[in-house]
Amino acid sequence: MGDNSKKHIRKRKINDTLKSISASKKISKSIYVLLLILHALAILYTVKTTRSDEVWMIFGNPVPVSVFTGVYSSFANICVIFLVVLFRRLGFFTSVVLLFAQFPMMCASFFVRHSYTSIPGIFTNVVTIIAVSLIFANNRRIGKYQEQMREIAVTDMLTGLPNRYACSMLMGELIRKKEKFALVSVNLNNFKTINDTLGHKAGDEMLIEIANRWRILADSGETGTYDFVARLGSDEFSLIIRSYENEEEIYKTIDFYEKELERKIMILNCDFFMNACFGIAEYPNDAPDSGALFSCADAALHEAKRKGGANKVLHFTPELLKTERYLAIERRLRVALENNQIITYLQPQFDLNHVLCGFEALARLQDEDGNFISPAEFVPVAEKAGLIDKVDNSVLTQAADFLSKVNADGKNNLKISSNISVRHLMKNDFIEEIKGLLEKSGVNTRDFKIEITESIMIDSDEKALSRIEEIKKMGMQVAIDDFGTGYSSLSYLQKFPADMLKIDKSFIDVMNDNDASKKYVASIISIGHILNLEVISEGVESLEQVETLKAIGCDYIQGYVWGKPVPIEEAFKLAGL
Ligand code: C2E
Ligand code: CA
Ligand code: CA
Repeated sequence: MGDNSKKHIRKRKINDTLKSISASKKISKSIYVLLLILHALAILYTVKTTRSDEVWMIFGNPVPVSVFTGVYSSFANICVIFLVVLFRRLGFFTSVVLLFAQFPMMCASFFVRHSYTSIPGIFTNVVTIIAVSLIFANNRRIGKYQEQMREIAVTDMLTGLPNRYACSMLMGELIRKKEKFALVSVNLNNFKTINDTLGHKAGDEMLIEIANRWRILADSGETGTYDFVARLGSDEFSLIIRSYENEEEIYKTIDFYEKELERKIMILNCDFFMNACFGIAEYPNDAPDSGALFSCADAALHEAKRKGGANKVLHFTPELLKTERYLAIERRLRVALENNQIITYLQPQFDLNHVLCGFEALARLQDEDGNFISPAEFVPVAEKAGLIDKVDNSVLTQAADFLSKVNADGKNNLKISSNISVRHLMKNDFIEEIKGLLEKSGVNTRDFKIEITESIMIDSDEKALSRIEEIKKMGMQVAIDDFGTGYSSLSYLQKFPADMLKIDKSFIDVMNDNDASKKYVASIISIGHILNLEVISEGVESLEQVETLKAIGCDYIQGYVWGKPVPIEEAFKLAGL
């Protein structure tokens, strides 16, 4: 880790830091020195060849050495041009000095030794000085423009503070140097109300005032730490705090910013008292890169906001990311439900002769970028947030629609099973909901099966049992999902009016490992058959498993071995439509 003691970090004002991170990369001084050496050598040889009477033999022909004078002097001029192009101001002044320094030598040769060969040299020198000046002037113009562009790229136009890009660049640089720092995400409280009631202009004035106060504070060094303030957008700011020794100092610094913010702000002749929430994440303790640090600081900030109250400062903890993910999924679920974006996939179910019998309907949810979020992740969130009935309903509706189409011409007699969460099942209007849905789609209720996890037999009371009976009265079938994972008693299973047992994948996975496991699955199948239940095995992945299941009398198979869950359009193809 780099040296973070206060003495070793040169404190700069925000604008200087901004300039240092956005400045274009400097070309190495050694190239400058090399060009000077090359130039000196070229001049030396120019002089030497001018005065030489020597003759070289080139390809068998005598060539006077003085012929090369022009080559050397051109090379010297090229070095000079490179100096101006690569080193701007320094290059320009150096080249002017070098070019002018040649004049006395040339003039002496002309006037003292009456050598007319120096006339083209003088002329070339004058032309080169003009060319170099033009290049320099043009470079300056382009340079200024580039500087402006770079400044725009790193500055927030409203407040003049550095923007998110600048903030990421600075973090990138500190991370490269392995320098410890704290990123603080800041969000003003109730800013939206000001914007909505007084208008955007007043809101802008407020942001400018706050930005100015914080910039002055950061530049003053009063906080004792080395701070960088940026505005990320709307009422979001971030602070990068460096050269602190312990966490307490981070809190102390934030306290300075809070106090500056809390001072009365006057806008449109009204007094306002603002406050904000702060979320802290530290490099390298909390995250190793700037993207992750932003997420951590934001997670802490959101938690501070959720906790409510005026000024809340919270430090990131790993648990917060879980909450953050949970809330993100909940938000995504709500949006998807609102816009009919819960997708249904269908996984084929076969009998042991590999004849298609039906499908299990499975919910799919995509995030904003189109990536699938696993049901193992979003189903529990939907359950906790009280949204599972809507998810089930959406899948049921799509499954019923599919079923009515796929069985329409009487060629197919396929069945669909759909998962129903226990919470959904226990809702008072569950039966009405299902009835309405099935009537609307016009499907035969007998082709519809609902899957309920085994846990319902363990945790639920008589109410659950009577619910199941009502479903059965409607003509629908019931499957007990994930069978074997709970500990339902045989006597309860006997009372339970199910039609099918689904043996959980975990048993199928190990079934062929040893004889005992195979016997265990065989006995579940026997019990199912004794109780007049059909038995399906799920998660079947190999032909070897299929053979075993055939041998021990399983009725149906669902698994990757014969078919993964597919979008509805593909399920139509599987059904021969
Ligand atoms: P489940 O009801 O036990 O569904 C079977 C899961 O096993 C599905 O995962 C399926 O894709 C997967 N699977 C099937 N065959 C194989 C196989 O051969 N190998 C492997 N590795 N996996 C296989 P999925 O779609 O991720 O669903 C997970 C769970 O989410 C479901 O388990 C179910 O409990 C729940 N779920 C899915 N859709 C819904 C829904 O619409 N409503 C409710 N309440 N729960 C749902
Ligand atoms: Ca299921
Ligand atoms: Ca299952």
